[in-house]
Order: sequence, then structure tokens, then C-alpha cells
Amino acid sequence: MAQKDYYSVLGVKNNASQEEIKKAYRKLAVKYHPDKNQGDKSAEEKFKEINEAYDTLKDDQKRAAYDRYGSSAFQNGGSGSQGGFEAGGFDFSSNFSSFSDIFEEMFGSNFSGRSGNRSQPGSDIRYDMNVSLEEAYNGTRKNVKFTTFIKCDSCQGTGSAGNNKPSACPICHGRGSVRYRQGFVTIERTCQTCGGSGTVLSDPCGKCSGSGRLKGEKNLDVNIPAGVDTGSKIRLAGCGEAGFKGAMGGDLYIFVNVLSHKIFSRRDSDLYCTAYIPMATAALGGEIQVPNLDGNMNVIKIPQGTQSGSQFRIKGKGMPVLNFSKFGDLIVEVFVETPVSLSKKQKEILEQFSNEKDDQANSPKTSEFFKKLKEWFGNYKN
Ligand SMILES: [Zn+2]
Ligand SMILES: [Zn+2]
Repeated sequence: MAQKDYYSVLGVKNNASQEEIKKAYRKLAVKYHPDKNQGDKSAEEKFKEINEAYDTLKDDQKRAAYDRYGSSAFQNGGSGSQGGFEAGGFDFSSNFSSFSDIFEEMFGSNFSGRSGNRSQPGSDIRYDMNVSLEEAYNGTRKNVKFTTFIKCDSCQGTGSAGNNKPSACPICHGRGSVRYRQGFVTIERTCQTCGGSGTVLSDPCGKCSGSGRLKGEKNLDVNIPAGVDTGSKIRLAGCGEAGFKGAMGGDLYIFVNVLSHKIFSRRDSDLYCTAYIPMATAALGGEIQVPNLDGNMNVIKIPQGTQSGSQFRIKGKGMPVLNFSKFGDLIVEVFVETPVSLSKKQKEILEQFSNEKDDQANSPKTSEFFKKLKEWFGNYKN
């Protein structure tokens, strides 16, 4: 293989600085890039040549070896002139080991309005929302405000200032990724030029620098369906962060937290409430009224001899079941309140009752308890 003069390939002097070499290389790489010279075999050849030259001269050690031994020191068994480019894709033969670096160097960060952002769609956003139990019962509509990336109003999110539509990226041909071969391995990575979008802009929008999005406030009205509970998630597709250059937005996830309530507590779709009843009502029986989250009252019949802790279930008066047209139950737990602040007459009546009472019949649990206690204590002492 003929010796090549890498310096003259790049058009620089033998004592050129790294800066000069890099500059000369960039200029030539852009000029002879295969995408600008499609089908032109000599440009392709030239492009390979300048890459080979640059690959050597940019590295001080390789450059020193080259200065000493010439280009034959760098030919990998003569494969450099085979391999080469494959139509459409970018397959580089093994002696171009650092092509991603070369693209980076070639196109810098301002090439064709490149945004410098790799990921295409916008990110998902989590929004935590407090909801009252009444709101969870009825369903509601709530305003949601947050700061995020929103679509640029100047370019309508396209990233383009004028009417020029984004064109297919010349490096990856719209694929968003480039392939290169390293030895026997073909590696695919995100195209550095278009950031993976597959498109480039000839006239990036000045307001958003071509990204198509800006920091701003999002203001939405969100429907909260009846039946939501703490931990419910509501997904609003595309309402998250705006994507790059008009790409899909991320999703907005509303994480619901149902606030605790003064009267009711909740277990799944059932509602629980504690009610106190007077001693006389518990003994004689009667009625109490318990409200419901729909604003109506429920009448509960209290039977004679009701004890503390008794539960009364009212069917269908609990929470709506999310996405079903049915309701849980309302469970009322009653506690008997011992009367306090007795008047003289009340005391007399209760004393009279106490003298009249039949422990076995009126207070079976109390009698049972003392009986057990007595037994245990008797055995314990012996
Ligand atoms: Zn814009
Ligand atoms: Zn690309």
C-alpha cells in the first residue's frame, strides 16, 4: 500500500498545531461528507482518506509514530480501502474507531439548530392532589397548575422559525440513530446531530432555540371521577412535559390523596361512622338519625338492649365504586353513653331501678364476668 501524506490530505503543514488540524479536518469532513455527495465515489474515497489522516494526526502518540514510520504503521492488514461505507447506513471499517467523536467534533453543538437534547418525548409528570371525602363521593372538576416545559407559542412547537419544515437528518437519514462497526461488532447509538429526532432545522426558532418548547405554566381543569381513593392515579395522556420539536408530550399523572373526614372514615368503598346513644335508648330501644354523604338522613332502628360496639349496616349508602355504578355500605357503630350530671330526681329513679334489678336477667354479661372471676380467684388462692 502506498504511503500517504496525512498532512497534505488535510492541507496542513507538518508542524501544524492540533487546533489547525482540527479546523482543517472539520472543513473537509463537511465538504466531502457522503450525504452531500451521494453517489460520488471519489468524494467517498476522499472522506475516508481525511478521516484516516485525522484519526492519526489528532493523537499525539500516533502522530509521532506516523512522523517516524509513515502511514504504513496504521494500515490494518490493508482493510482500510475495503469495508468503507455502505449505501444508506453508516458502516465504517475498523480503522475508524471513534466515529461518534468525529461527529461530535464535526458538527459541534450548534449544527443545524440542534437542540442538544437527546430524549424526544416529554417526561411524565406526577401531580399530588388533595381531595375531600365529599369530592371523592360526588366526583369533581379541579384546576391544576404547574410549571413545566410547554409548547413554544412562537413556532407552535415545531422548533422552526419560518415555514421551513424540518428535514430528514443528513447523518442518520431520519432514523435517529447511527450504526458503526468496530471490529466485528456493529454498534448503534443515538444520532448526535439530530439528538435522535431524525430531523434537523434550517432555521431554528429564536425563542426556543429550535427545541420547540419553553418553561412555562400549565393550567388544566381535571375531572376527578366519583369513587377515587387515596392512591388512585388519573392519567392524562400527553398533558405532561412538552416533547422536543413537536414530539409527543409526556403524560400527567394525578396522584389522589383523600383527606380525612370529621364524621366518616373509609375502608375501600364502605364508610364507617361512630354514633353515641343514650343509655335509656340503648335499653328501651328507639331510633337515631345518621347523615349520609349525599346529604340525606338515614334512620336506624335501635333494638332494645343494644350494647356498645354494635354495628348497623346500611346497604348502598357508602362510597361509589370507581368505574362501576354501585356503592359500598355505610356502617354505623354505636356506643352507649353513661349518663352524667344527674339531677336529684334522676338519681332517685336510678337507685330505685338498681334496687329493683335482677342481675341475672338484666345484666347477664356482668353476672357471667363476676362468676368467672370468682372461680379463678378461688382456685388461685388454694
Ligand atoms: Zn419556538
Ligand atoms: Zn440524525
